[in-house]
Amino acid sequence: MRARYFAHVDMDAFYASVEVLDRPELSGLPVAVGGKPGERGVIAAASYAARTFGVHSAMPTAQALRLCPELILLPGRMARYQELSEQIMQILRDQCPAVEPLSLDEASLDLSGCARLHGVDEAVDGGHKGWTRFAQALQHRIHTETGLWASVGLGETRRIAKIASDHRKPAGVVVVVRGEGRDFLADLPIEKLRGVGPKMAERLRRQGFRRARDIASTPRTQLQQLFGKAGSALLDMVEARDLGGVHPDRREKSVGRETTFARDLVGMAALEPVLSRLSENVARRLRKRSLQGRVIQLKIRDRGFHTFTRRHSMTTPTDSAPRIRDEALRLLRAMQWEQVPVRLIGVTVSGLTESRAVQGELFATDEERRQPGIDRIVDAIHDRFGSNAFLRGRSLLATGVDRTPWGATLSPSGPGSGRLDSSERISQ
Ligand SMILES: [Mg+2]
Repeated sequence: MRARYFAHVDMDAFYASVEVLDRPELSGLPVAVGGKPGERGVIAAASYAARTFGVHSAMPTAQALRLCPELILLPGRMARYQELSEQIMQILRDQCPAVEPLSLDEASLDLSGCARLHGVDEAVDGGHKGWTRFAQALQHRIHTETGLWASVGLGETRRIAKIASDHRKPAGVVVVVRGEGRDFLADLPIEKLRGVGPKMAERLRRQGFRRARDIASTPRTQLQQLFGKAGSALLDMVEARDLGGVHPDRREKSVGRETTFARDLVGMAALEPVLSRLSENVARRLRKRSLQGRVIQLKIRDRGFHTFTRRHSMTTPTDSAPRIRDEALRLLRAMQWEQVPVRLIGVTVSGLTESRAVQGELFATDEERRQPGIDRIVDAIHDRFGSNAFLRGRSLLATGVDRTPWGATLSPSGPGSGRLDSSERISQ
């Protein structure tokens, strides 16, 4: 059977790089695009110079300024990013018909069946050299035509391709052909594993764990002794998902909900209550089916019908509405869409497992541990009195606010009020 191949193209520090491209005098300086510190702003992108200070995207701007007082903070210029994004996507479409844009600066390419077209001979070294040439040429063309650098990863699954694209950033090219995937993943430094933050990484390193394979080769009981439930969850992760994937191309089941507004909504204050309600709905349906999901996906469509998705994989699965909402909000904030009119928004949870198989929460706060009890009560009230009987405070905001600070009107009764009247979508 011929191998399937995917490429993942991810622009390096995209927003920040565009700013430096348009203002070359900023080259080499710590530059970040983000919201103002006083307004709960977060960093959307940081130049590599800024990253040496520890500044990274999704970090609160106030914290970024503490780490790097000389940080050059710029507001986003979404129209300009969109313009370059379209140019980049066009280059990708020239190379391969199956391009799936994942956000302004990231896309997945399905290269299956394209080997001969690109002069790749898979009979020689599994196509490693040929695909590397292809990826380098693609990167080169993007740089020549836009002045921006992309990192390109290529692999047998979308997931391997994505990890590969992240492996040698910036301006990296990493190709993992058939038969190389397992070793590549086993070789990943523990910091690259999903959900392993700096603290957990330090604990792991102190115990001599450097790479994913070090975890994979350690007995479960020992990992549990060292790290408690987190140790067991890490083993599950490196064995079942990150190290090979038994069914790499199996379509995952997902539970999602989206809503289209009659009038575009602008700003976090308008969107947050809607995300809250969508999350409540998705969480409730997960719990009804005794499912929990690890991957939270946010979908957003702008006025021009451009649709973008952002996803985040968590270490442990959830069916908790607040957790789904918080992840969705984080994804939304990182997109920096404060000023962009939004036509549609949706939340989907995938990477599903049955609730009883779920490992304990790795880094749960007390509030999160209490949550299952609260969720059960909410479910019981919904079952008894219908789905409008009870909404959490944040969800109620949507009907309590008539006018957002940006002037978008939310009518409580009319269409587009954030009511969940869109079709329910459960995909297989
Ligand atoms: Mg990027």
